[in-house]
Amino acid sequence: MTEPKAAPVPVRTPAGDVVALVDGGEMDCGSGLLLLITRAKRRLAPGERLGVRSAEASVVTDLPVWADLVGHTVDGQVAESAQGPWWFAVSKRGVTAVPETVFSTGNRTPLGLRLWAYTNFDCNLACTYCCAESSPRAAARRLDPAVAREAFSEFAQIGGRELFYTGGEPFMHPQLAELVRAGEGLERTILTNAMIFGRGTRRQTLEDLDRSVVLQVSLDSATADLHDRQRGQGSWSRAMTGIGLARELGFRIRVAATMYDEDAAGVAALHARLDADGILPEDRLIRPVAQEGFAEHGVHVSIDTLEPEPTITADGAWWHPVAVADPNLRIHDAPLPIAEILGVVRDTVAVQDAAARSGRTVFRCA
Ligand code: SF4
Repeated sequence: MTEPKAAPVPVRTPAGDVVALVDGGEMDCGSGLLLLITRAKRRLAPGERLGVRSAEASVVTDLPVWADLVGHTVDGQVAESAQGPWWFAVSKRGVTAVPETVFSTGNRTPLGLRLWAYTNFDCNLACTYCCAESSPRAAARRLDPAVAREAFSEFAQIGGRELFYTGGEPFMHPQLAELVRAGEGLERTILTNAMIFGRGTRRQTLEDLDRSVVLQVSLDSATADLHDRQRGQGSWSRAMTGIGLARELGFRIRVAATMYDEDAAGVAALHARLDADGILPEDRLIRPVAQEGFAEHGVHVSIDTLEPEPTITADGAWWHPVAVADPNLRIHDAPLPIAEILGVVRDTVAVQDAAARSGRTVFRCA
């Protein structure tokens, strides 16, 4: 016989009794509060109330807009003083207000098709713009192959197609081969600086990889100057050697360059170099530096300027791979289950789309 579910113990707040409480500190809706609320709301039953505490004044305006968009009700609101903090009680409605069809429209990669996995966070380089704050001294935070198998299998079962392995430097993970095998059946790409797989056991790992695996190599410029300035002395020539080796071994190579606006004049020379080397145009990606991690300037990114690209790490899940050093863009406290991670992203995207359609602003940091 199934035991009846115990009634949740109410949490007493100035705005009334609630089932769970989100303390948003000084976050506004655009800087992560909405993700926290969305995660908590998914664990509530229809009719149950979520408490929200916030010290950010804009939330007084934005939270009711968000609640209205998703069909919930703010039925309690108390300020501790004129300067805050503010307490809210939000009743969860029984149905989702926004249809799921909104998720596959527009130019974004349809949610659920692509998954990113950080294999580890340590790296042989310490690039000046590294969004993941990787370096030889960074904690490895290695993804466990057993966890990866479970995650990738679940992802494939619910319709996933593309898997991107990134880091840190993935070839520093001693079980990279197992991680790659765990993704069999998916279109797999490994992001690498191509500098350390030329010898020893890493060379063996490379040679044993299935040739359907694509290697995406970082190469920031046609010659060593910019690349070495951003990524370390001698790194350009070692990357070129690595690209040559991988191509000899029969791998498809995609080249990704990362540069600041002021260096964009080098793009033409880089294309000419890649033309000469036989790297096809569809295998080139030029992207701006994002102001995340070690990067002190660059393109500002936030939850409403980044299209979601769900990303798992050994210890959590994130909105986008470029934002894994940003606690405001953390989606989940574990890399599993994938369905829950995608669910949080879907709910958040639904609010973004609904806000855009109605011409209202819920996110203030764009
Ligand atoms: S940008 Fe890539 S290669 Fe450079 S430190 Fe970060 S993870 Fe390593």
